[in-house]
Amino acid sequence: MFDLLLKNLRVEDPVNAVSGMYDIAIDNGKIAAIQKDLSPVGAKKILSFDGVLAIPGIIDLHVHVCGNFGNQTAFSMLARSGVCTALNMAGPTTDLLSHIHEACGLNLASLEDATPGRSLAHEAPSLKESRMFLSEAMEMGAIGVKILGGHYPLTPEGSVHIIHAAREEGGYAAWHAGTTKYGSNIEGLHELCDLVGNEFVHVAHINSYCRGQIRHELQEVIEAQQLLEEHPSLVSESYIAASNGTSFLLNKEGQLASKNTGVTLNILGYENSATGLGHALMDGKAFVFVQQGDETVRLTGQEAYRLWSDAGTNIAGGFDVNPPMPRIALAAARRKNGTFTVDCLATDGGSIPRNVLVSQGLGLVSSGILSMEDYIRKTSWNPSRCLCLKNKGHLGIGADADLSILDFHRQCALATIVGGQVCMIHGYVCGTGGTLITTERARKHMKSLGLSCQYVDFSNGHLPFDAER
Ligand SMILES: [Zn+2]
Repeated sequence: MFDLLLKNLRVEDPVNAVSGMYDIAIDNGKIAAIQKDLSPVGAKKILSFDGVLAIPGIIDLHVHVCGNFGNQTAFSMLARSGVCTALNMAGPTTDLLSHIHEACGLNLASLEDATPGRSLAHEAPSLKESRMFLSEAMEMGAIGVKILGGHYPLTPEGSVHIIHAAREEGGYAAWHAGTTKYGSNIEGLHELCDLVGNEFVHVAHINSYCRGQIRHELQEVIEAQQLLEEHPSLVSESYIAASNGTSFLLNKEGQLASKNTGVTLNILGYENSATGLGHALMDGKAFVFVQQGDETVRLTGQEAYRLWSDAGTNIAGGFDVNPPMPRIALAAARRKNGTFTVDCLATDGGSIPRNVLVSQGLGLVSSGILSMEDYIRKTSWNPSRCLCLKNKGHLGIGADADLSILDFHRQCALATIVGGQVCMIHGYVCGTGGTLITTERARKHMKSLGLSCQYVDFSNGHLPFDAER
């Protein structure tokens, strides 16, 4: 007796050395059996496939599903792109909690953003202020904190206080490199490594520090690799999409509120101002994100300019600012011991239209840059270790029945199955509810809200990877 029987899949699960044509039986949200020709007798539901690929559920370790970037579209975009579990990278966690019942069946964890003027009083939080911030955020359901150094930087000391507070409060810390002293570039990455020493920190989107802002982009890739190798306590991800995602909001003085937006305009040859952004939009070099159905899409030109001013400038957008070589080099880079230098392949997607782990990630496999095993390690197993999700990242008996079912040749997701629930099939998003991944600190509050939760523990950092660094 099984809840769901999936017939005729090419199952790849490197951690359990499974590779070949199998059926998968799911019971009570868990993997019950992976065998050839499982009997359909007694299965409550059966889905038959024609030999397409099934891998452990994709975990995107860097998405945005809240606040500035909107959440109405993010969940369906993730489900449609084959993602089962995602880490919301910049709060506000209360916003995620109020929408998680609409999360299309997905698993979501959230980091609270350490933003001066929003969640923090100022850009130089003391250790005591940082601990209070962390404690409150974790009781409200966040697993930890993200420093948005590229957009809303803290002082170097304030940044270190946030990282120390996360460790002391048993939380997860992520950092988009950059402080009030150094930018979000290779210098900011050097600074981050000097400041954190050997603490566990998730360094966001390594590729974005290798855009050739300070030195040649490939020199920056080499430096980033050396830094990660010298700081084995850091975990990291990079993404493979060309575009970034940022805010086009103007502040009261009429200046661009996000530092990153201004810097990117300069890189592309425009002035750091509302006028510069206006020109970039009209030239098709900048685009705004707008909702179409249950997707967010990119628009540029006159229409984008009109939408930006109609929204009182409070609109998210981006630029194709990531050069291709660093994205490929960082996806493939390895340490001397053969493990990946950048642990995970993520997207910085969600409601930002670049959920390309399947559409572009499988291109790395078909072009021989990654093996299928490498791809699964970078998109499922390694992220599961970062988030301390013991029962994800593999398909052993009793593991969570999270599966990404993919058309390898067309490079698209055919079905997304989370905890045994079919959340998307052939582009149709049908999952309901959502599970919050959080820590024990939030149990009381989550119980009062009646949310479905999976609890994780970061008191010992992340789970061990396959090999010592
Ligand atoms: Zn991000």
